[in-house]
Amino acid sequence: MDLILRNARLAPGDPLMDIGISAGRIAAIAPGLVAEAETIDAAGRFVCAGLIESHIHLDKACIFDRTAPEPGRLADSIRRTSMVKHGFTVEDVHARASRVLSRAIAQGTTRMRTHVELDPIVGLRGLEGVRRAIADHAWGIDVEISVFAEEGLTNNPGTDELLVAALDSGIRVIGGAPGSDTDRPGQLLRVFELARRYDTDIDLHIDFGNVPDDMDLDLVCRLTERDRMGGRVTVAHVTKLTTHDIDSQRRIARRLAETGITLSVLPATDVFLMGRDQTDNIRRGVVNANMLLEEGANATLGSNNILNAFTPFGDCSLVRIANMYAHIAQVSTDTDIAACFDMLTTRAARMLNHTDYGIALGNPADLVVFDAASAVQVIRELRQPLLAIKRGRPSMRWSTPELLGPSGSRPSDLPQSIVT
Ligand SMILES: [Zn+2]
Repeated sequence: MDLILRNARLAPGDPLMDIGISAGRIAAIAPGLVAEAETIDAAGRFVCAGLIESHIHLDKACIFDRTAPEPGRLADSIRRTSMVKHGFTVEDVHARASRVLSRAIAQGTTRMRTHVELDPIVGLRGLEGVRRAIADHAWGIDVEISVFAEEGLTNNPGTDELLVAALDSGIRVIGGAPGSDTDRPGQLLRVFELARRYDTDIDLHIDFGNVPDDMDLDLVCRLTERDRMGGRVTVAHVTKLTTHDIDSQRRIARRLAETGITLSVLPATDVFLMGRDQTDNIRRGVVNANMLLEEGANATLGSNNILNAFTPFGDCSLVRIANMYAHIAQVSTDTDIAACFDMLTTRAARMLNHTDYGIALGNPADLVVFDAASAVQVIRELRQPLLAIKRGRPSMRWSTPELLGPSGSRPSDLPQSIVT
């Protein structure tokens, strides 16, 4: 045994457990483990498998300071981002992606799927920069890349060749954004064709809009069934779904469940960009992920964008995203909040088809200790992750706050920040 995490609270009401780790994997889960090993005491705190960021964009993070201001009520995010993309160098992307990965590790995230844009403006520079950042942070987080055309595929010569080059280089998820293509079905057909040829999973940005008309989801469902891709297809945003009446929303949720498609809800971007056509009674545009679960579908919550024209905020905290989502979706019971936590953990693992995820014997020891007694308390009170363990090695540690009361000592200096 290399390390024992003692007195871990895995679920409310359960006895405290010791988690024994050997060669990076969970080797024992039992109360009062007797073994020679380095020991860390969780002191009854809630311990879970590391959080999973199911949807983020590392390549275009942290560029808000270089994009033009919003032109009035319309955010025009894609165009404002496109205008600065030519300046992306491998080194620039590497630095920004590294900043986000450091921050994500500090928030208790140990696995991630990132989207990376390919088009003639940025070429393969974004992909190369993100790959280098992922390699540099492999000690703390595993990251899977999905490549996609943000600025059109069928109408953007040279983009298809870049997608093929990325897939030839080993990328195993293909994404899409048909909303910015002049031939939306054409892009979806091409994405599914490439997925068949390269045996990749699919992760699509679709149906981002303020009206219920003209949704791409039905075609995605039909293509998923045609190619027997159930369990390997994810759709993100789908804000148009929120403009349907509730019966229609539940019917579509059941269709997702039957087809085996996961929906990633991205509350920060959705609530920031939806309803820009309105000045009052502004719609939220955030899909009720708990409703999807009630109908048997799979759902996750993701950060999506960090400090750019799509979301000019961000700290890479999935706990904060879940808390924000719960406010917007107006869910409050312990059962619903626990389900939100599942969307950051087990349900994200299901989306990514990670069969080695969770606190179970033989799985990689990817663990987080929260300064809380339960998952529900973590989300309700935005409790801090205090320690992360990646493949059996402590990878991140925060200190608990120290209140300096009337008789408290005054620190002469403060430690350096561990993240930029
Ligand atoms: Zn996205």
